[in-house]
Amino acid sequence: MEKKDIDWSNLGFGYIQTDKRFVSNFKDGAWDEGTLTSDANVVISECAGVLQYAQTCFEGLKAYTTEDGKIVCFRPDLNASRMKDSCERLEMPVFPEDRFVQAVVDVVKANAAYVPPYGSGATLYIRPYMFGSNPVIGVKPADEYQFRIFATPVGPYFKGGAKPITIRVCDYDRAAPHGTGHIKAGLNYAMSLYAIMDAHRQGFDENMYLDAATRTKVEETGGANFIFVTKDGKIVTPKSNSILPSITRRSLMYVAENILGMEVEQREVYFDEVKDMAECGLCGTAAVISPVGKINDHGKEICFPSGMEEMGPVTKKLYDALTGIQMGRMEAPEGWIKVIQ
Ligand SMILES: *Cc1c(COP(=O)(O)O)cnc(C)c1O
Repeated sequence: MEKKDIDWSNLGFGYIQTDKRFVSNFKDGAWDEGTLTSDANVVISECAGVLQYAQTCFEGLKAYTTEDGKIVCFRPDLNASRMKDSCERLEMPVFPEDRFVQAVVDVVKANAAYVPPYGSGATLYIRPYMFGSNPVIGVKPADEYQFRIFATPVGPYFKGGAKPITIRVCDYDRAAPHGTGHIKAGLNYAMSLYAIMDAHRQGFDENMYLDAATRTKVEETGGANFIFVTKDGKIVTPKSNSILPSITRRSLMYVAENILGMEVEQREVYFDEVKDMAECGLCGTAAVISPVGKINDHGKEICFPSGMEEMGPVTKKLYDALTGIQMGRMEAPEGWIKVIQ
């Protein structure tokens, strides 16, 4: 297979149209068999449920080339089951989990020419999503839905090394207790856009959201979960029902405990404790771990001992282990790597 003529290492994180995408329609209570199509456009009613009442959810994962030249993706079964949870919470029909994984495989295979080569740092980002497609004007769930998966090549997240970022404690809330923070719904992002643009205008890279009820506990950022390293080397991640369960974070915690033999803890993390942490990182598919160097709390700065030049040593160990597993340089736990071809 001939790769596309793309300057992989200089790609950004943007949409580039690829050859094929998967589409399946839900109508009269059932999903059709679905198909790969070259048509990148969606045509729906002006009154479609998604356009009026934001009935939509999504997933995100990556396919990439391993050291020995295989095209693989990482734990797509967890994306399938998380999308099931999102759909149930939004009164949308579940796309069967086994069919979800198969459709991911089909889309990657059909766009294999866009999967960046090993060592480029670039990946093929895969975006499954679903939306209510028939006209809805009274507030209720749609009767018809479309499930689609497209893929787009994206560049290395860290160009020229992973520089620690500066984040701020945010005065807006991301998710309410008993709300929708635990599902990957578009609506969680729509209402975070003002907060992130405001953070950027003030010179910060990201927002640290606190729990909406008491504003004393750490939740997450707009799109990544926190992990902290304590001064005695323990890995701690916040526990809350309004955090989106990051697959990267869950995988890192597993690797830390079962492969690196570290002590791990998932528990409520009070913001007051953060100043005593040794390292802080943001976990998500895009960056794996993005190191946080500094947190600004209304003008008061928390500067982690790991500094603003490079990832802290424990964060680096976790990052190297997970990317080693993903890239086939280290043995993966059973079922983590889905070989596509
Ligand atoms: C997608 C997402 C994450 C990261 O999850 P991964 O499965 O690791 O990519 C974290 N927080 C939010 C709010 C998200 O939407």
